[in-house]
Amino acid sequence: MNIDTKGIEAIVKKVMDTIDVAEESGKPVVDGENGLFQDMNNAIDAAHAAWKNYMVQPLALRYKIIQAIRDIMMKKENAETICHMAVEETGMGNYEDKLTKQYLVSSRTPGMEDLAADCWTGDDGLTLLELSPFGVIGAMCPTTNPNETIINNSIGMLAAGNAVVFAPHPKAIKTSIYCVKLINKAIKAAGGPENLVVTTEHPTMESADLMMHHPKVRMLCATGGPGVVNAVLSSGKKAIGAGAGNPPALVDETANIEQAAKDIIDGCCFDNNLPCIAEKEVVVVDQVADYLIFNMKKHGAFEIKDSDVIDNLAAMVAPDGRVSRDYVGKSAKYIAKAAGIEVPDDTRVLICEAPSSHPLVQIELMMPILGIVRVDNVDEGIDLACDLEHGNRHTAMMHSKNVDKLTEMSKKIQTTIFVKNGPSYAGLGVGGEGYPTFTIAGPTGEGLTSAKSFARRRRCVLCKGFDIK
Ligand code: NAD
Repeated sequence: MNIDTKGIEAIVKKVMDTIDVAEESGKPVVDGENGLFQDMNNAIDAAHAAWKNYMVQPLALRYKIIQAIRDIMMKKENAETICHMAVEETGMGNYEDKLTKQYLVSSRTPGMEDLAADCWTGDDGLTLLELSPFGVIGAMCPTTNPNETIINNSIGMLAAGNAVVFAPHPKAIKTSIYCVKLINKAIKAAGGPENLVVTTEHPTMESADLMMHHPKVRMLCATGGPGVVNAVLSSGKKAIGAGAGNPPALVDETANIEQAAKDIIDGCCFDNNLPCIAEKEVVVVDQVADYLIFNMKKHGAFEIKDSDVIDNLAAMVAPDGRVSRDYVGKSAKYIAKAAGIEVPDDTRVLICEAPSSHPLVQIELMMPILGIVRVDNVDEGIDLACDLEHGNRHTAMMHSKNVDKLTEMSKKIQTTIFVKNGPSYAGLGVGGEGYPTFTIAGPTGEGLTSAKSFARRRRCVLCKGFDIK
């Protein structure tokens, strides 16, 4: 059956309406139906019971469950419904790129193959190092990638043998519930326990706090801004913190400028700049700055030159230095219109030159606006890029053919992802080698999380035996 965009939108509306009707009529959620609970305590108890059951099942079932989650999320109508829903509910990002992200995490998030065992053998016998589960993991997800984070975390956490309680962002709750329900259906169809993946109907700060301090939750994973990362790191539990970034793209005079311009624009406007890894500002050596801007315009950038217009734009999108949610994840055209700037229909990114102290350069805006700063030389550029990254240790890009300077920048900036001569998303395995994730743990050092990040390293020792050297 072929369904066009209008058809999909109609289906999404129907699904959203169904959820609304259930809520408005006060119809109680049947606790545990496809992983959805009213009460956080009940959700955690159910996930804990599910985990105990999961632990005694054969590994073959785990493989089946992971494949079933991939299959249900790769199914065209599910993926399309979820991505339309995410855009409609959050008002952020764009459908086509969300679809790319949905297929990326569903197909390529590492599964159980990520959990290789290690061993030592000798006169004293055999010692195994195995990666085993924590138990119930509490996971907080951002508005910016709601479905991608739930799919990505579920595959990694369940592959490592855990159960997971999600505390989604309230502004993405419908999309999150829809994903949790589908995942539960997939697990059930694969023959797995009910409620391995759960969430609550009305997430609040209080319910997130309860989850963080519940004794049955043995590990926390926060994907979001500094508030939630600090909260999990203060919990006293093992925690993974995947926090904010402000990724700079540095271009020096040796770079392939035409390619750099294309890569920067492509990376910056992907899902309207929502990914935490996306290019947020540009630092360019003066000698090639004009040519870079000329080429950025060829790829859909619109340059704002009037400094008053630039300042007004900054005041609109980041009043008092705080990002306005009204513009996060909106398109360049939408933002330009709101700011009273006339731009051509095919505008993908708004660019402007600005001093390094300018809010459009300093702040993680999460929208397709790029402040551009000129520097005299690459050394000054490296130092400035390090400053603008604010020590987040998240992501940076550099466009250069100078191997020494590429090496110097990667050492100085210490980011979890450092992309050389490519768009930011190459760091997630799109046009670059490696697996994808949407939980990039800079502060706590797991880096690009995968199943092994959610596992405990345990040693099992057999004395005086099984050595066949
Ligand atoms: P956010 O911090 O507002 O929300 C993230 C989650 O944390 C939500 O579920 C929210 O309800 C919860 N939360 C927030 N403060 C909390 C607190 N004090 N206690 C308990 N829960 C709390 O993030 P957002 O605006 O939805 O997402 C954007 C931010 O997330 C950006 O800064 C972006 O860089 C970052 N991010 C990072 C990664 C990564 O992998 N490092 C991935 C996606 C987004």
